[in-house]
Amino acid sequence: MIHELKQLSFETFFDAAVDALLLIDDSSQIVQVNPMAQAIFGYSKDELEGKNIEFLIVPRYRKQYHHYRELFLNTPLKHPISAGNGFAVQDRNRKEILLDTGFSPIKLKQKLYVLITFSVASRRIEAEEALRASEERLRLAKQAAGLGIFDYDFKHNIVYWDEQMSMLWGKRASKTVSYDEFIARIHPEDRVSRQSAINRAMDPNSSGEFEVEYRVVNSVNGITRWIAARGRVYFENNQPYRLIGVTRDITDQKNLQKRLQVQRNETENIFKQQVASLTASAIAHELNQPLAAISAYSEVALHELHNKVPNSNDLKRALDGCVSQAQRAGRSLHELMAFLQKGKLITERSNLNELINDALSIVNFDNYGEFDPVLNLQPDLPDVQCNRNQVQKVLVNLFRNAIEAMHAIESPTLTITTAMHITMDTRMALVTVQDNGSGFDTLIAERIFEPFFTTKPTGIGMGLPISRALIEINGGQLWVNCNTQAGTKFHFTLPFTL
Ligand code: ADP
Repeated sequence: MIHELKQLSFETFFDAAVDALLLIDDSSQIVQVNPMAQAIFGYSKDELEGKNIEFLIVPRYRKQYHHYRELFLNTPLKHPISAGNGFAVQDRNRKEILLDTGFSPIKLKQKLYVLITFSVASRRIEAEEALRASEERLRLAKQAAGLGIFDYDFKHNIVYWDEQMSMLWGKRASKTVSYDEFIARIHPEDRVSRQSAINRAMDPNSSGEFEVEYRVVNSVNGITRWIAARGRVYFENNQPYRLIGVTRDITDQKNLQKRLQVQRNETENIFKQQVASLTASAIAHELNQPLAAISAYSEVALHELHNKVPNSNDLKRALDGCVSQAQRAGRSLHELMAFLQKGKLITERSNLNELINDALSIVNFDNYGEFDPVLNLQPDLPDVQCNRNQVQKVLVNLFRNAIEAMHAIESPTLTITTAMHITMDTRMALVTVQDNGSGFDTLIAERIFEPFFTTKPTGIGMGLPISRALIEINGGQLWVNCNTQAGTKFHFTLPFTL
């Protein structure tokens, strides 16, 4: 020991102590008290020294004090400061204070002194209270988030878990479970994927992160629940030694996902069925007319053959008709397939007025009915950029509908106009197909572009939806104005060639 320190008095040491100290003799007289103890009791040194310690003890605890004192004096052993040795004392203002106390016997010239070391237990209680509160908060948060906690000790092959998890596995309130038992409740189909997630996390070159979803079959009720587990493997000298993590019950989420998947599949099936039926209808729409024409031409040819001397010119015309209608059907099918398969749209610079005249020739050739064509075609209209066959198809369809709508009219007139359509930000070619036929009311107007909507006994109701789709893929718009008194006006636009 440093020589100077030897000179220090007992009193100096006593007063310098951080803990509260009190020295009493075997008759409970206070011999010495340090400043920390004085501060706790609120008395000065002079007020305490020489007094019997009993006056500091809360009256109802004095009996208990006598009992302890007796025990201690009989076997004077050291008792370290601890919560077990609680004493209730009172300070100058008679405020009760709970002390954690330690006792050390000191023998001096046949006399026994007791050094009492103490601290205010309420501080400890506050700390314990704070810990309990934070644990309670953690418990509530875990509960609210539906989280379970696990700690897998690789060395002892044991899993520490909380109540939340043990309940899921079907083991009530056990704090640990052997790893084998833990694994036994995991759904056999999920064990491999779970194990490989652990293996990946146990690789010292990995981040140690563990994340996997698996099913657990409860050992008590046999119910299967989905678990999402996340955690981290801890390493010591590059050796994995524990995996700590949380689990979350995701059964509801999984069930919802499954229901949504079933719904998605159903919707997809319905959609596929609709596409199939739309495709079939579109094919029927395209083939109806040429087939009817081929049948008519064939009948003419057969009729001719039945004659004793068949007229070879008539026969040739009928057969030519068959050939051209069959070719038209083939072309239509080809284009339809290209359109349905969303193949690349092939467009070309086209003169719209020419396209209109061609479509009129087809309509006349097909003989849909009588009408007077009135052409208001703008001669200097710039060329449009479009797929000629598709636009021709639209025109034929609009002309045919118009002719059919005028079949009961005395002077059926089909007026076709082309013009420049200028809006705020676009310049396009505009085609108007006007008839003076039956027209239709607003209820029908709302539905004419719906697939399968038809008012005709042998109609299919696909002409207008297909026409609108064709104009749109060519960069234009198709719409209708209808007046039941004055027939119908269909309009469509197409972009000019740049
Ligand atoms: P479909 O001709 O097979 O009925 P569309 O889609 O071409 O199929 O036409 C749908 C319906 O729109 C027709 O059944 C008819 O009621 C109505 N419609 C189309 N064009 C005209 C028109 N110019 N005048 C009156 N009604 C029309």
